[in-house]
Amino acid sequence: MNEESIVPAGFSYRTIRRRVQSSVAESMDWLHNPAYVQVEASTSVDTSEPCDTEVVVAESDMLNLATDESECSGGTCDFVTDNCSYDCSYSDDTDNCSPGSESLSYDHVDVDDDDNSHSDDAHKPEAAPVVINVALTEWALQHDIPRSALRSLLAVLKPFHPELPLDPRTLLKTPTSYELKTLAGGQGKYYHFGISAGITLEKCPDSPSCLLLQFNVDGLPLFKSSSTELWPILCYVRRSQLDPFVVGLYCGKGKPADIFEYLDDFVKDLSKVLAEGITQNGIHRHVELDCFVCDAPARAYLKNVKTFSGYYGCDKCTQEGEYVDGKVTFPLTNAPLRTDADFENRINEEHHRGPTPLSSLNIGLVTGFAIDYMHLVCLGVVRRMVNFWLRGPIHKDIDRAGRLPGNAVATVSSRLMSLSDAVPREFARKPRTLNEIDRWKATEFRQLLLYTGPVVFAGILSATVFNHFMLLSVGILLLCDPVFCCEYNQYAHDLLTAFVEQSAEIYGPGFLVFNVHCLVHLAAEVQLHGNLDNFSAFRFENFLKQLKQMVKKAHLPLPQIVRRIGEKSAAEKSYNKCISDFGGIHLSGEHYNGPVPAELVGARQFSQLRKPGMTIALNDKDCCVLNDHAQPHIVQNILLHNGSHFLVCQSFRRVSDLFNQPLPSSGVRIYKVSRLHASHTVIAFSENTQKCAFLPLPTTDSVSNRTAEFAVLPLLHGHH
Ligand SMILES: [Zn+2]
Repeated sequence: MNEESIVPAGFSYRTIRRRVQSSVAESMDWLHNPAYVQVEASTSVDTSEPCDTEVVVAESDMLNLATDESECSGGTCDFVTDNCSYDCSYSDDTDNCSPGSESLSYDHVDVDDDDNSHSDDAHKPEAAPVVINVALTEWALQHDIPRSALRSLLAVLKPFHPELPLDPRTLLKTPTSYELKTLAGGQGKYYHFGISAGITLEKCPDSPSCLLLQFNVDGLPLFKSSSTELWPILCYVRRSQLDPFVVGLYCGKGKPADIFEYLDDFVKDLSKVLAEGITQNGIHRHVELDCFVCDAPARAYLKNVKTFSGYYGCDKCTQEGEYVDGKVTFPLTNAPLRTDADFENRINEEHHRGPTPLSSLNIGLVTGFAIDYMHLVCLGVVRRMVNFWLRGPIHKDIDRAGRLPGNAVATVSSRLMSLSDAVPREFARKPRTLNEIDRWKATEFRQLLLYTGPVVFAGILSATVFNHFMLLSVGILLLCDPVFCCEYNQYAHDLLTAFVEQSAEIYGPGFLVFNVHCLVHLAAEVQLHGNLDNFSAFRFENFLKQLKQMVKKAHLPLPQIVRRIGEKSAAEKSYNKCISDFGGIHLSGEHYNGPVPAELVGARQFSQLRKPGMTIALNDKDCCVLNDHAQPHIVQNILLHNGSHFLVCQSFRRVSDLFNQPLPSSGVRIYKVSRLHASHTVIAFSENTQKCAFLPLPTTDSVSNRTAEFAVLPLLHGHH
């Protein structure tokens, strides 16, 4: 039994209540009557009088339990009353009164296979009460159940599970005493959760030997109708299983007025952690700062420097901006770079607005502040380009970018829509039309830049504008790839620099705003911090959404979040030990339909193979892979043979380059393919097997060209 079988998600409360009642009634027999199974099996039972038998069994069972309880606790608590305490009820073994049995029993229910759990649990009645507490807690937090609904549910369950509390705050271990700090001026309040409180060392990687921490600071408006903003300080441990977590949280009107006051607790905490490391349960780890991952305004705020709209606003180089078309632009691509020492010594006085509390941390304030490509590239440059194509000036020169004719925009939109059934399941969003561009999210601009753009803009943009777009697409693709980002770092830098330099001619000098300019600094950032996804704001952005959802009403938002986070961390501690799935391969959808090649006869067949960040399945959008030699294949069957995984595939008769500028696309493992070979080949599934997007290409001439062509583009990220 798990929480899903008790209460499925998405049901109305009344339905949930009914379902719970019936599930509970069903489970009563075995839960409270461990002797029932024995009696049923006994030949001496008179089956013509089942009612009498049941009554007798129930009574004897109650007596047994009462005896067990008094043995366990030495108390005299009565099984049937509501006053029975959690610790002693049901338990027939003193060892199992310890909290450690919580995770143990929970682990047991977490197993997929439920064939025998019914009879197993009947012999282990002590497991049930522990399970329901933990399972209910997890369920309530996962589905964000309103506390009033949870309170009613607890009232329903109480007669059947006397060990459950009536108050949801007791179940969820809601923090009741916490101190909020009022910042100067009384404009806002701050709560410090702490760095080490959010880190579970067991979930952190052993290598490298020290923990690398990333921090994100961002402001987010809470309500449309007021100026109330949240300013969380988030932390993420590089390469860990941990989600980002909140270190500190400010809530008030606008951004915190005094940066020293806002960061006071954080700076003290971080400098202690950097100096002493973190120790938990006898494990000690050193800690280093990896970088701050923030958008440009937040970087300027934290460092107390001029913003990107100022003349010395670039935080990586010293060039003085030029005022063009009402904005500051940065036309140089090779200006002298800032160094950490320059920053510390305030060599370029015009860059600084004042001192920053972060100076006391002895971290590089230039190298320690990474340029995040989610804001810079996806929401910055790509959005700017697409807006130019939709709303820019109209001119006839094919070597200049300008507003596209209405029919061209409609064609791109219909091509995007035609891809919506083809994008693999790893993508969080399906393509939308350009009409909705103002509502596009960062992930959609990334999808356009790296996957769908090369397909939908081909033949629509002029060759000059398209090839210029491809400089950005390939440059970013190389920097996102864990291997290419090092091997081709200089090449990627050259592509992005060429993109910036040509932008002035193609889009006009006013295009060279801070975001576009910063592309020339991106390859160097990758050398410091690894591929672009290692230090992107995507994971923080996802977490910020969850944080905002914790606020249910406008009154006192900060305490609401503090309580929710307290509940989450208490729950995580109680089922900490259950998390054991660290990235194995999971097969599902067993079938017997073939094809199975002769050498693998007897292998088990599956329709889906899942590993973290990637799913291969026998359907049109999830079936395309590259083998170890980067050859595109379509998976027709998934086999398990002697513990190894094999993919039965068809390869393509025609494989060519999808594009030729700035390099033949096969150089970055992107292809145009058509016509499958009839015969099958077998690929041993390995770490190098790469899943691809398999996108139908728009047919230019549907009458004469009857052969469907597809673009094959390897998926780059775990999170799309
Ligand atoms: Zn610069």
